[in-house]
Amino acid sequence: MKIIMLGAPGAGKGTQAKMIADKYSIPHISTGDIFRANIKNGTELGKEAKKYMDNGQLVPDELTVKILLDRVANDDCKNGYVLDGFPRTIPQAEVLDSELNKLGDKIDYAINVDVPDENIVNRMSGRRACVNCGATYHIVHIPPKKEGICDKCGNELILRDDDKPETVLKRLSVYHEQTQPLIDFYNAKNVLKTVDGTVDSAEVFGQITAILG
Ligand code: ADP
Ligand code: AMP
Repeated sequence: MKIIMLGAPGAGKGTQAKMIADKYSIPHISTGDIFRANIKNGTELGKEAKKYMDNGQLVPDELTVKILLDRVANDDCKNGYVLDGFPRTIPQAEVLDSELNKLGDKIDYAINVDVPDENIVNRMSGRRACVNCGATYHIVHIPPKKEGICDKCGNELILRDDDKPETVLKRLSVYHEQTQPLIDFYNAKNVLKTVDGTVDSAEVFGQITAILG
């Protein structure tokens, strides 16, 4: 099963993608996590990506597409995957589509987690992330057991630089301009499913499992 998560930054794509990955035993692939791991490890890719990420801009398609295609070529992707944060532009979606086409394959579901802009800034300013294992929490809605500490690996939780309100507004405008058109793109391919992302995360997951079976 090959799944794409669509939705604004902070809509809950990562939260849901992790649950999908667990339930259906497929890898969760987040381009944002791959970039952040590269930044943490001081790689050239990380240095390049950081220039864009810190300003709330998208990392150029050439770079992003390459890391994603390398990742999905791994053996663990044979039975499918859930993509979180990719594609984010029409050219990215077109490359993915044509690469899958060559293999006689396609995306099965594009799940659009729908959350209005008004809710997003609150979601993002409350988000806390573990830079070690990628787990995410919300200080009010999905708090860790111990404040500031990751439940899964015990590392410290941080507020991402790009989750500061001024960067969030920029990311939202980039989303509307460059990523939202993907909703029509996948609708035209008859794989789009929209869920209400404003409800509790367990309820959002319930809507998703009703679709995926
Ligand atoms: P995305 O991957 O789309 O950027 P996340 O999954 O990281 O979004 O979620 C953004 C923030 O909102 C996180 O702090 C997360 O814990 C919180 N969150 C996720 N889903 C919900 C929900 N259904 N209700 C309230 N908060 C949520
Ligand atoms: P995320 O963790 O998905 O919120 O992504 C964080 C940041 O990484 C984004 O704001 C972009 O700067 C960059 N990024 C992640 N995925 C992509 C992508 N598919 N295309 C371009 N930039 C991306």
